[in-house]
Amino acid sequence: MADWQDNDRAQTPYLEQDTPTPQLTRSSFSDRAITIAVIGDVHDQWDADDERALQRLGVDLVLLVGDFGNEAVDVVRSIAAVNLPKAVILGNHDAWYSASPWGKQNCPYDRQKEDRVQQQLDLLGSAHVGYSKLDFPALNLTVVGARPFSWGGSDWKNAGFYRSRYGVSGWRESTAQIVAAAESATCETVIFLGHCGPTGLGDLPESPCGRDWQPLGGDHGDPDFEQAIAHVRQQGISIPLVAFGHMHHHLRHTKQYLRTALVASEGTIYLNAARVPRMIHTGNQTLHNFSLVTLQQGTVTEVKLVWVDRDGVIASEESLYQLPGIVANQVKDLSQNRLN
Ligand SMILES: [Zn+2]
Repeated sequence: MADWQDNDRAQTPYLEQDTPTPQLTRSSFSDRAITIAVIGDVHDQWDADDERALQRLGVDLVLLVGDFGNEAVDVVRSIAAVNLPKAVILGNHDAWYSASPWGKQNCPYDRQKEDRVQQQLDLLGSAHVGYSKLDFPALNLTVVGARPFSWGGSDWKNAGFYRSRYGVSGWRESTAQIVAAAESATCETVIFLGHCGPTGLGDLPESPCGRDWQPLGGDHGDPDFEQAIAHVRQQGISIPLVAFGHMHHHLRHTKQYLRTALVASEGTIYLNAARVPRMIHTGNQTLHNFSLVTLQQGTVTEVKLVWVDRDGVIASEESLYQLPGIVANQVKDLSQNRLN
């Protein structure tokens, strides 16, 4: 359990509350293997070839972890138009000029005349699962979103932004929002989607959410996310996958290895999909990065990181996980070695 203490530390921890267990109507597992594409931090690297590649890869569901650009409304418009089942959570860069005092001071547009955060939310509609959920009955799974626009870390940041947009004033209320979304799930399998991952995945600089800047080390995950996952797990709900980004695979303190992309724990695969940049230009072609997760009967059976050409052909891949229980630590960047 994370040591999540903050400005509402005096309050009763959420998990100690007497919350009734919901009686959920859940459909049963599908026997068919489902392929989920997780797309890490986009940072303006998205084009029409991405959707074509996803179509040709035959994915059943697309999960996007946010940071499309610095309030890049046009990129989000393209994402919103993707004609595949999808769920999205917006990241800190998607509120770059709206959440912090620094951002507001450096905003390149007139915030009195337009609200680009809201424009992105309006474009995505129900596909945005931040503090919400989306049921996919045909796949027998529900995607639950953690706190949107997360900067990561155990300080409650951007208090005014969260209070005015979501009526949330601290960790406890934020955890409750995520749990409420999960409790409204109607499908048997619940997948969590966050921008930053949860606390509890390690405190080394190369841990999935480890701090790779000075002072080096420390868990930079989201405490509310970890609390919500624990609460849902206590209810006996299956959580095969927790997908997120924000903490880039390329580390700031060393070029010798990459961040740990995947951890398996308590029947859950925690996947950091933030391979940035997610496009590589090599020779006369551009390769696009995706993480592909295979889910069968409510269990993740395989995870691989792939580089795909514009026709959806996998040019290179590296295995991150295969049932039963191969955890990839400090995954070697095979694709970079091959291409550079
Ligand atoms: Zn981010």
